[in-house]
Amino acid sequence: MTLDSKLAILADAAKYDASCASSGAVRGDSTNSKGVGSTGGAGICHSYAPDGRCISLLKLLLTNSCIYDCHYCINRRSSNVRRAVFTAEEVVKLTLDFYKRNYIEGLFLSSGIIRSADHTMEQVIAVARTLREVHDFRGYIHLKTIPEASPELIETAARYADRISINLELPTQQSLDLLAPEKNLKRTQAAMGHIRNKLDEAQDRRKNGDKKLRHATGQSTQVIVGADASTDADFLARSDELYNSYKMRRVYYSAFSPIPEPSAILPLKSPPLIREHRLYQADWLMRFYGFKTSEILSPETPNLDLDLDPKLAWALRNRQDFPINVQTASREQLLRVPGLGVRNVQRILHIRRFTQVRLADLVQLRVSLAKVQPFLITSDHNPSAYLLDSERLRARFLPKPRQLELFTSNEIR
Ligand code: SF4
Repeated sequence: MTLDSKLAILADAAKYDASCASSGAVRGDSTNSKGVGSTGGAGICHSYAPDGRCISLLKLLLTNSCIYDCHYCINRRSSNVRRAVFTAEEVVKLTLDFYKRNYIEGLFLSSGIIRSADHTMEQVIAVARTLREVHDFRGYIHLKTIPEASPELIETAARYADRISINLELPTQQSLDLLAPEKNLKRTQAAMGHIRNKLDEAQDRRKNGDKKLRHATGQSTQVIVGADASTDADFLARSDELYNSYKMRRVYYSAFSPIPEPSAILPLKSPPLIREHRLYQADWLMRFYGFKTSEILSPETPNLDLDLDPKLAWALRNRQDFPINVQTASREQLLRVPGLGVRNVQRILHIRRFTQVRLADLVQLRVSLAKVQPFLITSDHNPSAYLLDSERLRARFLPKPRQLELFTSNEIR
């Protein structure tokens, strides 16, 4: 098999992994047609470096042959797809070729499990080690690690990578038993805990002056949403644990997408993409706005409201806490006002030291007045009790009804 054929298979197979933060933009494609500027086909995706820069990565699987049989995965043992395996040298060559042509600034490398978890990790490490030690490659490297691999190998991977990740895939052992029977939640958590300890050690060494130390600075993971009956509360509770106990940088929520020749126990359709979006919003509330999972969801309502963003939904359930006075409210209170983001709260705290905040100031900050007005008192605005108590308040924020299309591809099927 030529290198190009392998690249086509293994770059395509890597696209299901969202934990490199690839963009969700519509893909242009000039292959086999006129024009230039294809964004698909060669496995290039985009991610964010620790300093916030957007960087392009060569995103590949080392192989799509796998000895595991996860139902939701196109590369599973029982899947009828064309298989390919890169050698470590081939991935090194591709990375350097792409890098020298200025196509990419780094590599995202994942893999199906060939022979054993340790054997696969050794191959993945061989790529990173050769790039770093033989070619002095200083670009970004994100390595996907395998929880079943020995801790020493995972540790070695962390020494060559900027970011490492282990995919949790599903939030509970019960879900894993159903859809990924070879995977074990406790084993994955143990591997994440081990990585966390090593990340802490590396951070301490840097603080103590070891500036030349090369070691990953964070770990991330991915979960698949909508492949089973797991609720949003299951996902957020697990994410909360991952952020707090394992110092996870990011949990990526990836909506399940039906694969060719799917297993009979999988749903036929993807969940609505808005569910993935709402989970990201709720995740953001937990990390940056001081919300607890129990405030966002409860046993009675274990799934997020798809029609409203979770902060607005929370505010509507807790109207007794509003309106709040923009001039006197604490930072924590302001962060809970629908329509106010972290940056704007910071700006408001600054402005109000010098002047009374008016609606016009909020407009200047590009705050959505329609969203904040019912919840906020400014020097020139006090929402009427009617507005806040009105049954119609929720209706005000609901998306406008759209005319149903007579036929959609889903309905026809
Ligand atoms: S271990 Fe990974 S590559 Fe293998 S079947 Fe499961 S999800 Fe797919």
